[in-house]
Amino acid sequence: MDLQAIVNDTWNALADERGGGTPARYIPALAAVDPCKFGIALATDDGQVACAGDADEKFSIQSISKVFALALALEREGSALWDAVGREPSGDAFNSIVQLEKEKGIPRNPFINSGAIVTTDRFIGRRGVDEAVRDLIDRLRRMGRNPQIDFDQDVARSESEAGERNRALAWFLADFGRLLNPVEEVLSVYFRQCALSMSCRQLAESALFLAFDGTDPVTGQKMCSASRARRINALMLLCGHYDNSGQFAFEVGFPGKSGVGGGILASVPGRAAIAVWSPGLNRAGTSLLGAKALAEIARRTGWSVFSGQ
Ligand code: GLN
Repeated sequence: MDLQAIVNDTWNALADERGGGTPARYIPALAAVDPCKFGIALATDDGQVACAGDADEKFSIQSISKVFALALALEREGSALWDAVGREPSGDAFNSIVQLEKEKGIPRNPFINSGAIVTTDRFIGRRGVDEAVRDLIDRLRRMGRNPQIDFDQDVARSESEAGERNRALAWFLADFGRLLNPVEEVLSVYFRQCALSMSCRQLAESALFLAFDGTDPVTGQKMCSASRARRINALMLLCGHYDNSGQFAFEVGFPGKSGVGGGILASVPGRAAIAVWSPGLNRAGTSLLGAKALAEIARRTGWSVFSGQ
């Protein structure tokens, strides 16, 4: 299969729709991004990365970071993490608070904001915040094979300034005794993790471990066990797009994780990791064109996890 041709054809087929959807405006740094950006990167186990459009331009990965935070928190905590966060789709918006009270501060899953705040807290563990941030960035640099990967300080600051809802979620969790670290310390890591800047190519390369049983097939780096990778994929499929997860599975059929910066990271087990970027979002905060591009790639490759090929 000529994957570069598929990526090019997908990009060309959708290029006229650039600018569709609504970019995130809750912080100025995201509102200022050109809405016509559109990138695709598809990484495979032979080290090839088929790219099109703005695949090498960095953008704010936002909630895509929750996948990496989950893998790293599981590495530190093991399955004890599941005492603090559930594994069910929430059916609510990413920043919803409604289930937290009824469920006594146990978030439904690690990809809604409340669940990600708990995951980040466990990733910090008992070490200091600075050490945890250094560790996070260091791991992403190694996985993304790029020592330049970093977070955007302006985005992180704006996240904090516009962070009332996340503060509310974190204080609610703290009231139930669910956080190990002080609220502001956890949030300072969470905001920086959301503000990581990466390109589609870097994201796809960093996520190969998800598609290949926990180990990056190109570098041989092991991120997690095969069963853990399988489980992270399961959660991405069921919860990766919040109250749009069903629609995404229906249209695309890949485990995926969206971010309000307009990126989507998808894992196609046994085949590839794919990252797409287009800033315009649908009502659930998933990139409109990004989801269409992934649906098109699924159709052209026959790789939907629900197909028999
Ligand atoms: N930084 C955003 C928030 O915490 C991330 C949300 C997202 O990408 N869905 O609200």
